[in-house]
Amino acid sequence: MKKLVTFLLILSFSILVRSQETKPALLTEPANWEFERFELPPSFAPGITYKGVEELRFPPGFSKKDTATYFTYAFVAQLNDVTTISQNDIKDYLIKYYKGLCTVVAGDRKLKIDSSQINATLEKKKGVSASETIYNATVNLFGVFADGAALKLNLEVKVMIDAVAKKAYLVIIASPRDKSDAVWEKLYEIQKAFTVPVASAQKINEPKTTEEWTKPYQPFRIAGNLYYVGTYDLGCYLITTSKGNILINTGLAASLSQIKNNIETLGFKFSDTKILLTTQAHYDHVGAMAAIKQQTGAQFMADEKDNDVLVSGGASDYELSKYGTSFEPIKPDRLLHDNDTIKLGDMELVLLHHPGHTKGSCSYLFTVKDDKRSWKVLIANMPTIVTDRSFSNIDAYPGIEKDYAYTFTAMKNITFDIWLSSHASQFDLHKKHKPGDGYDPSAFIDDEGYDAELSDLQEQYIKKVKQ
Ligand SMILES: [Zn+2]
Repeated sequence: MKKLVTFLLILSFSILVRSQETKPALLTEPANWEFERFELPPSFAPGITYKGVEELRFPPGFSKKDTATYFTYAFVAQLNDVTTISQNDIKDYLIKYYKGLCTVVAGDRKLKIDSSQINATLEKKKGVSASETIYNATVNLFGVFADGAALKLNLEVKVMIDAVAKKAYLVIIASPRDKSDAVWEKLYEIQKAFTVPVASAQKINEPKTTEEWTKPYQPFRIAGNLYYVGTYDLGCYLITTSKGNILINTGLAASLSQIKNNIETLGFKFSDTKILLTTQAHYDHVGAMAAIKQQTGAQFMADEKDNDVLVSGGASDYELSKYGTSFEPIKPDRLLHDNDTIKLGDMELVLLHHPGHTKGSCSYLFTVKDDKRSWKVLIANMPTIVTDRSFSNIDAYPGIEKDYAYTFTAMKNITFDIWLSSHASQFDLHKKHKPGDGYDPSAFIDDEGYDAELSDLQEQYIKKVKQ
């Protein structure tokens, strides 16, 4: 059997890159299918202007007219520097692609075809989830790898955009067979298995951090069903419930194993993590969020105002965008607003919107119980200032000064029994608790410490406003 690209190489189109030795980078299954890769635009269709790479997978029967898998195949076009592609763009792409391919191959094989007959239709596939873009397409072309007879190809084009890496992926499955035919099962498997490659998608550039952030720390029970599972300084909190557990903050990317160990050391199952929350969309609090979500299948919920930064992996943060992508991008399953309630089992947490540090920084207020009493707990995101620039110079966050002012007022009015925060140093964890200390929630009763920390930060804020 002749391979598609091999065929074209015979035609001495020198731009085609044949990389038989390389394994598929984008498409995987099924194993016994052939694999080809070439650069875009393809030499057979110079009218296409997109630059990128195309990978194909096709079965042994691809060029044999009397097989079930004749002209049945899957390919993905990775288009570089593309963040949006319209229905018309895709239709145009398909027409140019197949006109070029059929003309060149027919010419080489001395087959007579009328390339003006080659056309395409494209319409949005119905019944797919709102987050997916899939088109049903047909292309009228010629079976140039066999007898050159007219052929109607049924296709599905799935569009996936990696906004961070500025790449668009067209995942295309095709067969002249009806969609009800068994060959489509294989094709749908390929379509489903494709994911935007992380390695090429985003290079994560986590800034260098201090030892205090990365150092392990012995987990402990803070109060009732609330536990400290973070690193020496990065506050991560586990709240256990009858229906699984809530994890607030995940530290740096490398904190994952420490958090998992800490949860297991306390006698809980990592896989029981059902809800993931954060106090702010910075790499030192959501670094391991995407990986933990993937490993546990938990729902990630975040303040709506941090959504953009989370989805871009920090690349759209008003200040930390200077590092590019600083954590693995993650899309929240639920967006939260001020005073929203997060419920799991017998627990209810209230989100308090405390913007400034990030647009969607927030704190959590909830009550835990032990056998003696209940404790009203505040996990506070302290409004520290991130930027060296004056507030008026921050175009990406025009409301920053007002947001801080709002947050200082709001935070002063909260009542609670004990408080904790995003960083252990902010609430003096290491003065209040030593590894091995017995259970003592009252060690975290500290209204004065909270007020003093807020006053100190407010002074810094007032200086900043005058800057
Ligand atoms: Zn931060």
